[in-house]
Amino acid sequence: MPKKNKVAASDNCQKELAETKEAAAASEMLHRNLIDYMHNGYACCRVVTEKGRPVDLIHVEVNKGYENLTGLKNVIGRKITEVIPGIADSNPELLENHFRVVESGIAEKFEIYIEPLHKWYESTIYCPEKGYTVAIFDDITKRKQAEQALQNSEKKFRSITEQMSEIVFITDSSGQISFISPAIEKITDYKPHEVIGQRFTDFLSEEEVPSALSAYKEVMLKQSTTHVIVLKFMRKNGTFFFGEVHVQYYHESGYSGTIGVIHDISERNRCERTRIEYEKKLLDGKQFLQNIYDTVNHSVFVIDVLPDGSYRYKSINRLHEIRTGLKNEAISGKSPREVLEPDVAATVTGYYDRCIHKGSSTEYEETHMFKGKLSWWRTILNPVRNDSGHIYRIIGTSTNITEHKLTEEKLKTLSFAIQQSPTVVVITDPEGNIEYINPTFTEHTGYTEKEVIGQNPRILKSGLMEDSVYEEFWKTILAGNVWHGEFHNKKKNGELYWEDAIVSAIVNQKGVITNFVAVKEDITEKKKLWVDLIASKEKAEESDRLKTAFLANISHEIRTPMNGILGFAELLKEPHLSGEEQAEYIELINQSGKRMLALINDIVDISRIEAGETMIHVEPTHVNKLLHSLCTFFRPLAANKNLLLSCNNGLSDEECVIETDSAKLTQILTNLVQNGLKFSVEGEVRVGYIRKEDLLEFSVSDSGIGIPESMKESIFERFRQVDNSLTRHHEGSGLGLSISKAYVEMLGGTIRVESGEGNGSTFIFTLPFNPPGVQTPEHHATVTESAPGSLRGTTILLAEDDAVSRILIKRSLQEENLTILDAWNGRDAVQMIMQHPEIDLVLMDIKMPVMNGFEASREIKKLRPELPIIAQTAFTSKEERLKALEAGCDSFMSKPINKQKLIELIRLLLHK
Ligand code: ADP
Repeated sequence: MPKKNKVAASDNCQKELAETKEAAAASEMLHRNLIDYMHNGYACCRVVTEKGRPVDLIHVEVNKGYENLTGLKNVIGRKITEVIPGIADSNPELLENHFRVVESGIAEKFEIYIEPLHKWYESTIYCPEKGYTVAIFDDITKRKQAEQALQNSEKKFRSITEQMSEIVFITDSSGQISFISPAIEKITDYKPHEVIGQRFTDFLSEEEVPSALSAYKEVMLKQSTTHVIVLKFMRKNGTFFFGEVHVQYYHESGYSGTIGVIHDISERNRCERTRIEYEKKLLDGKQFLQNIYDTVNHSVFVIDVLPDGSYRYKSINRLHEIRTGLKNEAISGKSPREVLEPDVAATVTGYYDRCIHKGSSTEYEETHMFKGKLSWWRTILNPVRNDSGHIYRIIGTSTNITEHKLTEEKLKTLSFAIQQSPTVVVITDPEGNIEYINPTFTEHTGYTEKEVIGQNPRILKSGLMEDSVYEEFWKTILAGNVWHGEFHNKKKNGELYWEDAIVSAIVNQKGVITNFVAVKEDITEKKKLWVDLIASKEKAEESDRLKTAFLANISHEIRTPMNGILGFAELLKEPHLSGEEQAEYIELINQSGKRMLALINDIVDISRIEAGETMIHVEPTHVNKLLHSLCTFFRPLAANKNLLLSCNNGLSDEECVIETDSAKLTQILTNLVQNGLKFSVEGEVRVGYIRKEDLLEFSVSDSGIGIPESMKESIFERFRQVDNSLTRHHEGSGLGLSISKAYVEMLGGTIRVESGEGNGSTFIFTLPFNPPGVQTPEHHATVTESAPGSLRGTTILLAEDDAVSRILIKRSLQEENLTILDAWNGRDAVQMIMQHPEIDLVLMDIKMPVMNGFEASREIKKLRPELPIIAQTAFTSKEERLKALEAGCDSFMSKPINKQKLIELIRLLLHK
C-alpha cells in the first residue's frame, strides 16, 4: 500500500478505530507483510521528550529492509542516538526533521548523508499518530556517489577546458554551440557568452562554410569518433586564423551533437612554412655546394685527420682529379704515402701538420706539370673542427696561379723598366692622389717618394699655365682619352721647368677609372735649345737677308763713286780739255773718292769695333768749338738742300770743355747731322746739347721723314735701314748709326731716337760730363797721349813688299826728316838690322814673301832685343796682334796707315 494511503488510513484509524477494529487487524496483517518484505527500510519511532522538548527517537518498529540498508540490528526500544552514536552531532537535521513532522503533521522527503554509517539515504517521514514518526527510506549511496563522480568529472572537465589553450566546444545536432571554453576569448576576442547559442558557421570564413557543413554532417551521420579538419576562422576584429578542428559525435541521454577542440595552427603553419623554406634552402645550399665542388675552377680535396694524427684522403673534386691524375674512388680512405710519391707525400704531410699545428688556414705554393706545362698552384688548407674543437678534417683548395705568376714576372720586368726609366712615371688614383712615382721623378723634381705619395700632382704647379690647359687636360683624361701636352711646372727648389707629358686613364673591365698614369719627360733643355735654335735660325736668316741687302747696298755704294772716279779719269785723258773742265773732273773724282773712302772708313770702323780694336783718344774737347766747326762744315750742304742748320750750345765756352775722344764725338755728330740732312727735304736740322747733372745730353733733330715705331731699336743694328730696297731714295751703307752707337757706349753714354713717321726724328745721346781734371770713364784707348818732339836724325827700317804702301809711308813721314832704310821681305830686314846698328825702329809689314813679319821680328829681337818694332797689317785681328806680340813686336798699326797716328806711335816708342 502506498505510504500516502497509509498516512490517510492512520488518520481514519483514529476516527473509525472502534468500528473497524477487525478490519484493521486484517489489514494490519497485510501491511505487516508488505512492510516486512519491501526493499525500502521502514522505521516507526516514538519521540522522546525531555522537559516538553523532543530530544530523541526510540525505535518502535523496523522492517528487514531497515537492517539491510543500515546494517543496524536489535534496534527496537533503543534510542537512535544510542543505535547510531554521534548522530546528534553529525546529523542533527535528521532528528530535527522528525521533530518538525511530528510537530506539523506534514510529511517531508529529503536526502541525507549519515556520516557514522557512511551512507546516503532518501527518506520520507510522516507522523502516523501524535508523538510517532514513520520513516520510509532507501539507500542512495551508489547514486549519490555516481552523481558526485559526475560532478567531479564535470568540474575537472571545466577546469581542463579553462586551462587549455585550444578552444573546446560542444554543439547540438543542429550545429548550435552549447558550450565554448574561455580560450575562445584569447584567440578570437569573443566572450563565451557571445558565442554560445550561435551557429558555428557564424565564425567561419565565408568560403569555408560549405566544407565545414559537409564535415559536420559526416560526423553526425557516421557518428564519427574522430574527425580532423582545418578551417579558416574569423576573429572578432575581422582577421582570420587557421584552426585545426578535432571533432567527434556524442550522444547522451537522447541528446546528440558534436564535441571537439579547435587548435590555432597559424603559428604552427608559419613554423611549418619556415621549416619547409629552410629545408629547401638547405637542399639548395647542399646542391649549390655540390655544384661548386664539382664545377669550381679550384682543385678541392678533403682529408680526414685520424685520432692517431695520420691523414686519409676522403674525396677530391673533378679538377683535382684532372690536375693530379688521381681518381676519387682510388684515393678515398688512403693515406698520402699510399697515393703520392714518397717525397711529395712527405712534403704535403708537412703542410697538413703545419695546418693542424697552427689551427688556422695555411697557405703554400707548389708547382706541377699540368697539361704538359709547368704550372703554379696556390693551396689553402682549412682545418675543420668538431663540436669539441678538435680538428678532424682538412679541406684544401688549390688555385691555378700560373697566369698570375707569369703576369707577376712580366710586371716585375715592367716595374724594373719603369724604375730604371729615364722618363718620369707618376701613377695616381682616380682622385688624382699620387700612388707611385719612379726614382726619375725625384731626380727631376726634388720631391722624395715620402713627400709626394698621397699628394696631388698640383704641388708641381707653377701658376704660369692657363687654367684652360688644365680644364682641357681633365676633360680629356676623364673621358678615357690620352692627353698629350706640355706643363710648365715648378720643382721643390722653386726652379721652373718644362715637361712633355702623356697622361691616360686606366679603366677596369667595368669601365670604371682606377688610375691615371703620366709619363713625362723634362724638356726644359730641349725647349731652350729649340728656342735658341729658332732664334739662331731667325738671326741667321736675318743676317742672311742683311748680308744680301748689304752686299747689294755696298756694291751700289762702291760702284757709284767708282763709276765717277773711273768715268771722269777716263774723260781726263781727252786731249783737248779746258783747264776748267779738268778742274771740274778732278773735283768730281775727288768727291767720289771721298765718298768711297767714307764707306771704306765705315767698314773699317765697324770691323775694328767688332774686333775690339777701336782706340779711343781722350783729350780735353771744347764742345762748343766742335759743334761750331761741324755746323760750319755742313752749312753749305744744308743750304744746297734749302735746309736750315742751327746749332745750340748748352754751356758757356768756359764750361763746355770735357775729357772725351773728340774725333769719335765728331764722327757721331757727323753721322747724325748727315742723316738729318739726308732724310729731310725741307725745314731744319738742329744740333745742340744740354747738361743734365753729370751728363751732357746731345740732340740732333730734323724735320724729315721720321722713323716707324717698329724700327726705332733696330736701326742701330749694322746694315739696318728702314728702306733697304735697291730702289731706295737715299744712299748709305746702314753702318753710320751702329758705329755711332758703339762709339757713344765706348765713351760712356747711351743713344736713342724719338720719332714719328713723317714727323721728323730726334737722336739723343749722352756723354759723361767730364771737365778736365775729372777722372775719365774706362775706355779702350791704347794710345792716349801724344808726345810732341822732333824725330830728326832717327833711322827707321821699313820692311814692306808693296810699293804703293811703301810710297805712302815714306810720304807720310817726309816732313819728319827721318832716315828710312828699305827691306823688301823679312830676310832682308834681318840682314839690314845686322848691317845697320843705327836703326832706331822697325816698321814691319806682316804679310811678306821669303820670310813673314812674325819670323823676321823674332830674329831681329834675338839680335837687338831693345829695338822697337811696329807691326803693320791690312787688318788687325786680336789673334794677329797676339802673334805679333809673341814674335816680339812692341806695337802695331793697321792699314791704311794714319799719318798722324803713325808719327805719334813712333814718338811714343822712341820716347820723343
Ligand atoms: P745709312 O744712313 O747709311 O743708311 P745709318 O746707320 O746712318 O745708315 O742709318 C740707318 C737707317 O736709319 C737709315 O737707312 C734710315 O732708314 C734710318 N735713319 C737714320 N737717321 C734717320 C733720320 N734722321 N731720319 C729718318 N731715318 C733715319
